[in-house]
Amino acid sequence: MAKEQLLSYEDALAKFEVVIGLEVHVELNTKSKMFCGCANVFGNEPNTNVCPICIALPGSLPAVNKKAVESSIAIGLALDCQIASYGRFSRKNYFYPDLAKNFQTSQYDEPIAFEGKLSVELDTGEVFEIPIERAHMEEDAGKLTHVGGATGRIQGAEYSLVDYNRAGVPLVEIVTKPVYGAGDKAPELAAAYVRAIREIVRAMDVSDARMERGNVRCDANVSLRPHGQEKLGTRTETKNVNSLRSVENAVRYEIQRQAYILSNGGTITQETRHWHEDRGHTSSGRPKSDADDYRYFPEPDLVPVEPSLEWIEEIRKSLPENPAIRRKRLQGEWAFADLEFRDVVNSDLLDQVEQTVAAGASPQTARKWWTGELARIANSENLVVQDLKITPTQVAAIQKLIDGGELTDRMARDVVAGVLAGEGEPSDVIEKRGLKVVTDDGALIAAIDEALAKQPDVLEKIREGKVQAAGAVIGAVMQAMRGQVDAARVRELVLERAAQ
Ligand SMILES: [Zn+2]
Repeated sequence: MAKEQLLSYEDALAKFEVVIGLEVHVELNTKSKMFCGCANVFGNEPNTNVCPICIALPGSLPAVNKKAVESSIAIGLALDCQIASYGRFSRKNYFYPDLAKNFQTSQYDEPIAFEGKLSVELDTGEVFEIPIERAHMEEDAGKLTHVGGATGRIQGAEYSLVDYNRAGVPLVEIVTKPVYGAGDKAPELAAAYVRAIREIVRAMDVSDARMERGNVRCDANVSLRPHGQEKLGTRTETKNVNSLRSVENAVRYEIQRQAYILSNGGTITQETRHWHEDRGHTSSGRPKSDADDYRYFPEPDLVPVEPSLEWIEEIRKSLPENPAIRRKRLQGEWAFADLEFRDVVNSDLLDQVEQTVAAGASPQTARKWWTGELARIANSENLVVQDLKITPTQVAAIQKLIDGGELTDRMARDVVAGVLAGEGEPSDVIEKRGLKVVTDDGALIAAIDEALAKQPDVLEKIREGKVQAAGAVIGAVMQAMRGQVDAARVRELVLERAAQ
């Protein structure tokens, strides 16, 4: 599919005002599905987590997952929404093979949460308030795999496979009102908004929030109108964008594509579109009118959801600190430079550093362990650092031994390796590997004298005052002592012995 013609971004912004609207789907991490007891697990054998309810056998009756309602209310509260005291589920009727029921159970005119807002900060420090229209509960559809075509899409495929494990997984769909006034920052703002939602649901632990697994996906609506015009332009909806970078790129592409069409006298087709990250463009999906008739009607098999005020207040009290406020607080407490702090945030290591500090390490040493040695090890083993088998408490314990002079840096790295290899707690590793700083100067002096005797030329240089020559001897001593001595002490003694 050929790329369409684009107007330059600058010209597009000069001619048109950008209006965006974002729909974010969040998959909840409840143990079971929305309306049945099947496990809600990613990556199992296809069609193993299914039952008569989620594949809609006749006569099966759904029941609402209480934890999913609780998580949905928590999301609504975190987005400053009002929570409905009464809400029914509806049937959204359509046929597609990924949902065996021929309808999706969703909320239509009675969403669980409505009328909220979320402050979103860009990297530049600019803050935008995004108005939230609603957040409603629904179920996910199954997963279709189209086999035999070049693109993985249904067009050109020989056959398709369906996996109903995901059918019935609880979803919350968060819908913004139209967002005005972002100007040339609209693509960046869209991505920052999705990032903020992801942070919030992760902090509340209501979703795994892994975009690469589709736990958080975004539909991005974009429309343009000439500056000064009140009537909104025709919008397109780019579906299921599943990375932050793609959200930003897709919105920017749509702005430039629509601007080219409009400034050449054309009209925008109201439609869904697909984003192709590899080729950097969107392509046409299906036409979509505002009056798509899904023949919604109230779900007769489910009782309405009526959360009590007490329950809502209980959930409100259990909400964690807002992630943006938490970041500001931690940066202040830790006194990190902007770059150091951004490094921790971008590596997703705030929790690890915070817990390591709570276990007694200084913020700087905690940061260095996680973004340095541990990140390096994870990288070399193709893991994410969060998945390494070492806890913040263990890291803090190792650091404490360094601070107390009981471990050298090199020995500490050995201890880390031992913990990662499953040899137990740091103290077990130290014992098993016989890691002990040699504090007995007798053994050390013997090693130094031996090294000096082997390198008489170095000894000569040190005596002539060329102190930097001592490095070669220090290195030999460290090696002889298997790194279990303090390098500064070795240096001190080498100079002392050489002078004798
Ligand atoms: Zn089921």
